[in-house]
Amino acid sequence: MVIDGKAVAAKVRAEVRDNVESFVAERGTSPGLATVLVGEDPASHVYVSNKIKACEEAGIRSIHHGLGEDVSQAELSGLVSELNSDDDVDGILVQMPLPDGLDQDAVIAEIDPAKDVDGLTATSAGLLAQGRPGMVPCTPLGVMRLLHEAGVEVSGADAVVVGRSILVGRPMASLLVNASATVTVCHSRTRDLAAICGAADILVAAVGSPRMIHGEWVKPGAAVIDVGINRTDEGLTGDVDFDAAAERAGAITPVPGGVGPMTIAMLLRNTLSAAQARRRSAAPAV
Ligand code: NAP
Repeated sequence: MVIDGKAVAAKVRAEVRDNVESFVAERGTSPGLATVLVGEDPASHVYVSNKIKACEEAGIRSIHHGLGEDVSQAELSGLVSELNSDDDVDGILVQMPLPDGLDQDAVIAEIDPAKDVDGLTATSAGLLAQGRPGMVPCTPLGVMRLLHEAGVEVSGADAVVVGRSILVGRPMASLLVNASATVTVCHSRTRDLAAICGAADILVAAVGSPRMIHGEWVKPGAAVIDVGINRTDEGLTGDVDFDAAAERAGAITPVPGGVGPMTIAMLLRNTLSAAQARRRSAAPAV
């Protein structure tokens, strides 16, 4: 079975749109997402404009700040601080990577965890690691929804995550542990990746290396989720050798059209959740 990420993403976006309508009816205002884009990187411009467009379609307000490449750390920091205290802003997204010379970690650390819709702050990561409610990075959250929609049983499954980044691999592993899978995390120093992958009921590849997961590494019947996005001469390809892996997998995501569309859908969901949580915590005690 090929998991149709576009269809699942459309379903999530429709759910968010309906919930935003109810939010507006109750609160008289829509959730707001602030996007911060520094510099002229063409890919980042495309990503941010896609996010703004998706917000519009879901009824979420976007507040965009485009800054020149020469912005100082202090100016950027000042903007994040303003957005933190702006009551009309429910979520803050600083598009990464930042141009050379700016300290990404310092900027992330300044985002109010209640508005951290990318789930990148240490507070969000800590809450997730402890299995407590908080903002979760959009891509791994999207993977969990794909597994759910494909009817994959996570509880008790042997799951392998290849990659340990803050953005994908680590939160992915935490989400799977929190859903009661038995999780192995692999990385560039892992010995015998083939054997470890071969034991996985759920295999998530988040490396950034075209087709590095061979078809014969896939356990027959396994769920294979390919997070990788690699631009090659033959076009966009994932980290998994799709054709060979699809012959063995019980369920598998394609690239493109798998995990990719879920990331923006989950950003919308996180923005709505942040708005709901902030309004709840601001509600007077009765
Ligand atoms: P990253 O920060 O570069 O991390 C890559 C991870 O892969 C690292 O942990 C690295 O190990 C590990 N790795 C590298 N070579 C390996 C090897 N030979 N064997 C096993 N592990 C290896 O990348 P990322 O941000 O997590 O992104 C991963 C991929 O997902 C990229 O292709 C990216 O474009 C894609 N992505 C897609 C979406 C989406 O919406 N679909 C969102 C985010 C990212 P070390 O830690 O040891 O270096």
